[in-house]
Amino acid sequence: MALQIYNVLGRQKAEFTPMEPGYVGMYVCGPTVQDYAHLGHGKTYTSFDVIVRWLRKSGYQVLYVQNITDVGHLLDSGEDRILKKARQLQSKPMQLVEFYTREWYRDMDSMGIIRPDISPRASAHIPEQIKMAQTLIDKGFAYEANGSVYFDVTSAPDYGKLSNRRIEMQEAGTREAVRDEKRHAEDFALWKRAEPEHILRWDSPWGEGFPGWHIECSAMAKKYLGPTFDIHGGGVDNIFPHNESEIVQSECANDAEFARYWMLVGSLMVPDQDGIPTKMSKSLGNFVTLRDALTKYRPEVIRTFVLSAHYSSPVTYSEDSMRGAQGGWERLNNAVWLVRGRLATAPAGSDGNGFLPRLAQARADFAAAMDDDFNAPVALSALQELTREVNTLLNSDATVGREVLTDIDALYTELAGEVLGIIAPPQAANANAEREAGLIKLLIEMRNNARKAKDFAASDRIRDELARLGVTLEDTRDGTLWKV
Ligand SMILES: [Zn+2]
Repeated sequence: MALQIYNVLGRQKAEFTPMEPGYVGMYVCGPTVQDYAHLGHGKTYTSFDVIVRWLRKSGYQVLYVQNITDVGHLLDSGEDRILKKARQLQSKPMQLVEFYTREWYRDMDSMGIIRPDISPRASAHIPEQIKMAQTLIDKGFAYEANGSVYFDVTSAPDYGKLSNRRIEMQEAGTREAVRDEKRHAEDFALWKRAEPEHILRWDSPWGEGFPGWHIECSAMAKKYLGPTFDIHGGGVDNIFPHNESEIVQSECANDAEFARYWMLVGSLMVPDQDGIPTKMSKSLGNFVTLRDALTKYRPEVIRTFVLSAHYSSPVTYSEDSMRGAQGGWERLNNAVWLVRGRLATAPAGSDGNGFLPRLAQARADFAAAMDDDFNAPVALSALQELTREVNTLLNSDATVGREVLTDIDALYTELAGEVLGIIAPPQAANANAEREAGLIKLLIEMRNNARKAKDFAASDRIRDELARLGVTLEDTRDGTLWKV
């Protein structure tokens, strides 16, 4: 089956046909670098990471662009988010942006998220944004007022086509002062006049100012992917006004379709004090930073948790859901560990109770799930099902030949490792396994010495602590054996 994508634009699942065969241009709205990444970012960018990995695995050459917003993203109060934070920390705005950009990559790297090919920064693309705003004025889609430039939403009949919002629904909540200089309450800023105290400011044909938030994505997507490209992604909460504004200003400025497929990731939820799932967000203050979560859970476990729901669905973070993800990941990882361990001593040949066709089936199930709008939870359950059978095979009396074990390992390495990013490649796993085995052997030796010295408190403590970590010891005539 060819790859199907649910296109939010038009709200239907359809076969994915890129503009150029074999090539995918993809833009994903990136972070506003004003704080540490939280788990909600973890969900969004892990989802796109797996989407890009699967496209590449399917043979596409992907150009993945994800911006860094370091200017222009205003709070509802009209205050610039970065300036506000910089003031709180008594640092220069660009110093703050640099700090959080570096920390952002550190967090994304620890999550095993492959970096985008291009990470353009808004502040480095001011001329492109000014040019686009000027084009929109020249074409009659935008107007200047008191040194600011606004997009006239009444000039574009299909404004609202992504979110299906009608203009009159958006009247409420616009601040009086701004409404005065705008022709319509819904008109959005392409360029803002800088007040004297505003530090981030650039020259423009309309005086000193700074770009509106939405225009950066339009200008940078065009610069790196062209006026029309294949996939635009982001978090579902940015569908309006951000994504909607990107579309309308790009299509009016470029006289061309903007992104052909829109893919939006569902929110990460946390239960509120009444247990009702609420979106995790910076503004609600209910967030868990990725680095805090990573002190409790392995990155692979957080990824497994994210992938346990379809990318477009919300998922609720709780101790329970994380325990579930942890258990699921451990079962998978233990099986891989077992297979790799057996490989070293396995006899040559393809014995294994006819397991090879079962592997082909698992690969087909996995691919069918991923080709069905990147349905990672179904792909994951195909691997979990296989894992049960792998365990049965390895625990049976059957001889399992090296060929079968190699193929099982290759399947896990490719699908769970290269695509889902939840299993380490064999070499890394071997290095870890060797270290782990060495440590356990050392502890067994210490325990046996303690027993010889009749220090049973110490020997019991070692045995109990190892059991707590999932390592059980068995004393036999040939010495102490251990099992993870
Ligand atoms: Zn954007």
